[in-house]
Amino acid sequence: MVKPSETFKKVPPYLFAGIDKKKAAAIARGIDIINLGVGDPDSPTYKRIVDVMHKAIDDPKNHDYPPYEGTKAFREAVAIWYKNRFNVDLDANKEVVSLIGSKEGIAHILFAYLNPGDIVLVPSPGYPVYKMGTILAGGVPYYVPLLEKNGFLPDLDAIPADVASKAKILFINYPNNPTAAVADIAFYKKAVDFAKKYDILLASDLAYSEMTYDGYKAPSVLEVEGAKNVAIEFHSLSKSFNMTGWRIGMAVGNAEAIENLSTIKTNVDSGIFKAIQIAGIEALTKPVPEIEETNALYIARRDVLTKGLNELGWNLTPIKATFYVWAPVPPSTNSNDFVAKMLDECGIVVVPGNGYGPEGEGYFRIALTATVDRLKEALKRMKDAGIRFS
Ligand SMILES: *Cc1c(COP(=O)(O)O)cnc(C)c1O
Repeated sequence: MVKPSETFKKVPPYLFAGIDKKKAAAIARGIDIINLGVGDPDSPTYKRIVDVMHKAIDDPKNHDYPPYEGTKAFREAVAIWYKNRFNVDLDANKEVVSLIGSKEGIAHILFAYLNPGDIVLVPSPGYPVYKMGTILAGGVPYYVPLLEKNGFLPDLDAIPADVASKAKILFINYPNNPTAAVADIAFYKKAVDFAKKYDILLASDLAYSEMTYDGYKAPSVLEVEGAKNVAIEFHSLSKSFNMTGWRIGMAVGNAEAIENLSTIKTNVDSGIFKAIQIAGIEALTKPVPEIEETNALYIARRDVLTKGLNELGWNLTPIKATFYVWAPVPPSTNSNDFVAKMLDECGIVVVPGNGYGPEGEGYFRIALTATVDRLKEALKRMKDAGIRFS
């Protein structure tokens, strides 16, 4: 058989592909699995959005190829949403492009900017696509540690100047997957200054902006004055509107970066089904009070899980955003062994922290994607199995 490329050999199966296999094997053994693994909302897409999609499917006008960059109406809806939500002005023609989910855009932007060997500053722990997208595009990821003592924000001053000078892109992601950390405008301002100083494209991943709790509201990097000179921001309807399966997102910000990303995309994809874009417009331009209800659900789960884990010896503070709890594994073990023990002895799927980068070792991630009752059951199983943080 033909041999795959050297680049391909550096690409492992996606983190969750491996986890899904182990989960399937456990289910085949008859185990009642509690899945707290992949970050996929367990609530349906809001009915109003689904209803709009139903109608749009029947209209033959929506059956042909969509515009590559997104319909004008969708791009305008994105601009309206950014104005309403962040008070950020966007030119729908130049500063917005639709994405087939933001994962796609995050992977493709790298192809527009990397020469072989170029450095990309990648948070560790971080969403795996930043690193693997970099490798696929021929670049070299340089890990920027996110440490608990720094509130899981990168210490940009600690990045060696010679590395920063060679870097093309810096990824940041707040509210953060997997740590649930949040960033304020002061941090975004620092990141913009850093990107200006070293001539770096600042790539902000804002996937979790609407999953916030206890009155916290997540800002956009584009709220920083002058950010549009250096920054592109990725957003997605996946988490904000329970639309993971629909595959719709957007990139906004620096016009040149948007144009370059669009050029890559016109060569590899042909846009998003127009009916899905019409559903996206519904989500972005009308008030969506259902978001508050969904967030209330996550708050209830968070409170049960945080309290339960703290009763088992952990010392966790309730998260302000995302639907992840990022917790240290007991000191006598490591990420892989602990996660295997959780599956084998409790039938609970959680994600090993080291899947998100070297600084994730010693942690595991729990997604709040099960009901309060199931979370209580998970905690009971842990207690019965003698699993404690000690
Ligand atoms: C879920 C997620 C995304 C969004 O993925 P889509 O492709 O839009 O579904 C992007 N970034 C992070 C960090 C995520 O966790």
